[in-house]
Amino acid sequence: MWREDEDICTAIEGIFTKEGITIRAQAECIRFESRGQDIAAGVNCVNGEPEVVGSHVLLAVGRRPNTDDLGIEKAGIELDARGYIEVDDQLRTNVPGIWALGDCNGKGAFTHTAYNDFEIAAQNLLDGRSRRVSDRIPCYGLFIDPPLGRVGMSETQARASKRNIRVGQRPMTRVKRAVEKGESQGFMKVIVDADSNEILGAAVLGPSGDEAVHCFIDTMSAKAPYSTLRDTVHIHPTVSELIPTILGELKP
Ligand SMILES: Cc1cc2nc3c(=O)[nH]c(=O)nc-3n(C[C@H](O)[C@H](O)[C@H](O)COP(=O)(O)OP(=O)(O)OC[C@H]3O[C@@H](n4cnc5c(N)ncnc54)[C@H](O)[C@@H]3O)c2cc1C
Repeated sequence: MWREDEDICTAIEGIFTKEGITIRAQAECIRFESRGQDIAAGVNCVNGEPEVVGSHVLLAVGRRPNTDDLGIEKAGIELDARGYIEVDDQLRTNVPGIWALGDCNGKGAFTHTAYNDFEIAAQNLLDGRSRRVSDRIPCYGLFIDPPLGRVGMSETQARASKRNIRVGQRPMTRVKRAVEKGESQGFMKVIVDADSNEILGAAVLGPSGDEAVHCFIDTMSAKAPYSTLRDTVHIHPTVSELIPTILGELKP
C-alpha cells in the first residue's frame, strides 16, 4: 500500500537509484545473520537476490509513545489502545485541567505539529481563542535530495473521496531553476476541487520543494480559491514561479 501517490514513489525510487541505493519493497521475511565481519540481511523470499550483505544495519521501524512510565494512570488520564494520550480537538485530556501536547497525543508526529499544539493550548487558555487541531492542514517534508514538500490530500486520497477533481502537473525538467541547478529530477503536482475551486493537496518533489510547497499551504490556510494563487506573479527564476502555471493548466 502506497502512502504517497505511486508517481511520487516511482520518482523517489529513481532518485535513490541514481544515488546507488537499491530499494527492496514488500520484503516480507526479513532476517539477519552474521557473515564474518559483515551482516547478511534476508530481504525477500520471492523475488530478486534473497540476501544483501553489508557492514551495518539501520532499523527504522516506527515509534511508539513513551507514556508507559509517566504514572499517567495515577492521574486517571486515559490512553488509547496504542498508548497515545486521548485528547479532544482542543487537546484536553479526560481529566479537567490537564492537556497533552506533541507526539504523545498521536495527532501529529512532527516538530511543527508539536509547536502548533502549544499554540492551540496556550492561545485558548491565555488569549480567549478557540483554536482546534482539526483546523490544521497536514503538511510535511521528506528530506531526501532533492526534497519532497507535501500538503493536504494526495491524488489517490482525493480520488477516493469521490470529489470531482482537477490536477496540474509539471516535471522539474521544465522548471528553469531546477535545470540551471542541474537538479531536474522530480515534479510538482496540485489537486484542486473542480466544484469548490479549493486546493485539496499538493506535492513538490525537486530542488526547494520543501520551501515551494508553502505557496500551497498558505493559500489553503487562507481558504482562498486556487485562482488566487494562479493569478499571483511569482519571482523568476524560482521553482515557485511555475506554481501559478500548473494551476493554469489543470486537467480533469
Ligand atoms: C530521527 C528523527 C527525525 C525527525 N525529523 C523530523 C523533521 O525533520 N521534521 C519534523 O518536523 N519532525 C521530525 N521528527 C519528529 C520530531 O522530532 C517530533 O515530532 C517532535 O520532537 C515532538 O516533540 P514533543 O515535544 O512532542 O516530544 P519530544 O521532542 O520527544 O520531547 C519529549 C521530551 O520529554 C522527555 N521525557 C520523556 N519521558 C519523560 C519523563 N518520564 N519525565 C520527564 N521527561 C520525560 C524526553 O526526554 C523529551 O525531552 C523526527 C524524529 C526523529 C526520531
